Amino acid sequence: GDGLAPAAVQRIRVVVRKRPLNRREARKGELDIVEAVTRRTMLMHELRQKVDLTSYTEAHEFRFDDVFDHTCDTADVYRHTAQPLVASVFEGKRATVLAYGQTGSGKTHTMMGSPSTPGLYVLAARDIFAGLTHRRNAGLRPVVSFFEIYGGKLFDLLNGRKQLRALTDAKEEVVVKGLSEQAVSSVDALLRVIEHGNAARSTGSTGANADSSRSHAILSIALCDKRTGKMSGKFSFIDLAGSERGGDTTHTDRRTRLEGAEINKSLLALKECIRSLYQEHDHLPFRGSKLTQVLRDSFVGDSLTVMIATVSPNTLNCDHSLNTLRYAYRVKEI
Ligand code: ADP
Ligand code: MG
Repeated sequence: GDGLAPAAVQRIRVVVRKRPLNRREARKGELDIVEAVTRRTMLMHELRQKVDLTSYTEAHEFRFDDVFDHTCDTADVYRHTAQPLVASVFEGKRATVLAYGQTGSGKTHTMMGSPSTPGLYVLAARDIFAGLTHRRNAGLRPVVSFFEIYGGKLFDLLNGRKQLRALTDAKEEVVVKGLSEQAVSSVDALLRVIEHGNAARSTGSTGANADSSRSHAILSIALCDKRTGKMSGKFSFIDLAGSERGGDTTHTDRRTRLEGAEINKSLLALKECIRSLYQEHDHLPFRGSKLTQVLRDSFVGDSLTVMIATVSPNTLNCDHSLNTLRYAYRVKEI
């Protein structure tokens, strides 16, 4: 795009958020090598000394729709990513916010946050409930669902990790069959539902022991017509599997290797699906993975998508951070 369109009308936005160096990294004398040089440019500095032959990095600069450094908080990120989409959801559209990045780079901090630093789920929920107090929205009620894709399988986080199936219905729409939906009447009620689901993420009762860095978590807040139950708009938040897990394909443990291959496939398919939104053709490569199948609705019609790529600032993670910047850049580069 020309980059000048206001946030609200851009169909796809790709932004980068960098977290601060943490205490442990600072203590070890690691350097912060990722810098927001303008409102829209992220620079990865050249390492001053060669660490070893393979990890030597030159300076790399990438332009995005927005960049957020350690001086920005989640509320700043929210204002420039999810918030402009709330009105669209009330107009009946679908909006999707994805967090992509290495494990430990701040995806969950951004999406879920904590009581002291509420994440996008909470900030969006507050605005959605505020919107529901308007008279014109009196006929709508919010309904939440929360599921996980782990090793290519779907698990309902609001229903004891029940395994679900994705089916294509007669209208060529993908439905997650049996996915439980909970009506919520307040922001607090919504947060309790999310916390409940989140607890199901890491303590797999199946013994599958889902490591959240290897799973994609998909939280949706749909606005439904109180009378007919028909869905009007829908907001989806996706906390993706750690991008470095896609590289686990040479691991000796078979399951880890297969999971890595599945994650790799889904993240590549995701990139292709978003990229295809810019092109005038009717083939969507959404069949490439379970993730893109269930997100199909996010890639068709007048849906709106924001990708937040999160990066760690430190020298030790520079290869992963560079991979993330490259991936995010490719998502929008035409
Ligand atoms: P991920 O979900 O990508 O694996 P997390 O969100 O769990 O990463 O973040 C890893 C750690 O870094 C957490 O302790 C989190 O609180 C902290 N963190 C992440 N991003 C930020 C940030 N922008 N500001 C402060 N702390 C952060
Ligand atoms: Mg996480």
